[in-house]
Amino acid sequence: MKRYSILNNLEKCFFCGKPAECIHEVYFGTANRQISIENGFCAGLCHKEHNLSHNSVHSNRKMDLKLKELYQKEYEKTHTREEFIKLIGKSYL
Ligand SMILES: [Zn+2]
Ligand SMILES: [Zn+2]
Repeated sequence: MKRYSILNNLEKCFFCGKPAECIHEVYFGTANRQISIENGFCAGLCHKEHNLSHNSVHSNRKMDLKLKELYQKEYEKTHTREEFIKLIGKSYL
């Protein structure tokens, strides 16, 4: 399935604005990766801020949570919190 983003931000890195080098599934992990792909919980990132430094979503919990909270907020503009929890298993807000 072609990945998309409910925030339409796959072209540029979410954090630094450089052209994106990869697409990150915001709610990653075994169960939630595919759900993220199907529901547009994806973000464009540069490699450095994806997983190639300490300031990357895969090693910096703050950056990780920033994305998780933002995408949940966006999702909840058109869905209920219960629907979000049913998908992802918990709320980040
Ligand atoms: Zn970046
Ligand atoms: Zn990732």
